[in-house]
Amino acid sequence: MVKLSLALFLAAFFIVGCPDEEKANSMDNPQESAIETKKSQDRPENQDYEKATFAAGCFWGIQAAFDKVPGVKSTLVGYTGGKTENPTYRQVCTDKTGHAEAVLIEYDANQITYEQLLDVFWQIHDPTTLNRQGPDVGTQYRSAILYHNEEQKKAAELSKQNLQKSGKFKKPVVTEIVPASTFYKAEDYHQQYFQKNPNASCHIPEFILKPERIVKTEEEWKKQLTKVQFEVTRKKATELPFSGKYDNFFKKGTYRCIGCGNELFPSETKFDSSCGWPSFYEATSDEKIEKKPDRSYGMVRTEVLCSRCGAHLGHLFNDAPQTPTGLRYCINSAALDFEEKK
Ligand SMILES: [Zn+2]
Repeated sequence: MVKLSLALFLAAFFIVGCPDEEKANSMDNPQESAIETKKSQDRPENQDYEKATFAAGCFWGIQAAFDKVPGVKSTLVGYTGGKTENPTYRQVCTDKTGHAEAVLIEYDANQITYEQLLDVFWQIHDPTTLNRQGPDVGTQYRSAILYHNEEQKKAAELSKQNLQKSGKFKKPVVTEIVPASTFYKAEDYHQQYFQKNPNASCHIPEFILKPERIVKTEEEWKKQLTKVQFEVTRKKATELPFSGKYDNFFKKGTYRCIGCGNELFPSETKFDSSCGWPSFYEATSDEKIEKKPDRSYGMVRTEVLCSRCGAHLGHLFNDAPQTPTGLRYCINSAALDFEEKK
């Protein structure tokens, strides 16, 4: 899956600028942004994850691109590499702080390697334009790899040499490879900017920002899934009630799509409906699922599918007044993979 997703990054560049006025329009909040790396994580630090920091022009698109990479667990945009303490966006825009717009990534090294992250990094910007990405000009838009340890440094240097040798770029690769220093979290309105502003544009390939869609043949699905998982997700079968492993199961964690790992339901929205199938009153977000009218078996129902791989998950009913939404997502256990909260 990692390979498939990374392959999506190979394409032409759409050079559209990040409108500076738009970025500066919102209020800066120095108090809020003036936090060092360790305190700046929105969630507690997870010791199981590695860190990586990249600068590659306007950080909106860079964050959106890395957010889509399987194995990347969290991202944070901010300012780093300069001298000014606790900089604001307005200060960084003056090109006098020495800071670059950057993304701090936490990733699961069991799912993606640092080398694979480097591959993504090279593909989402032009590493040959000094202090410039598309129409954004200034040292704050420089291309830089900020390594967190010696292994990352060596991997970055080797990767840069290989890229230069590959002939993909005729001009020299000007990317800096420097040690990671204090990372100042950017103002909240810059975090996950593209999720909040779907019509915003940036210098990175446009399609990267669109939800990836996974398409596989029936044979490939059969190889990957058990018989029940295949029948349910690809043939819209329904498992027998009270038979699934997540019926009457209430551990804390995340329910993902068995086909593609798409995050579908948080355990907090699971409730006991006594219907024989896992029941949730809300999905992780509306983008994660698709709803379709289903008129099979002489009934009028709403089918629920995974938005990324199209797996059939179950049906949606409006018969749970005891829940905050009144809804019941009646989902087959066989369509789910549970990740327990550590
Ligand atoms: Zn899926």
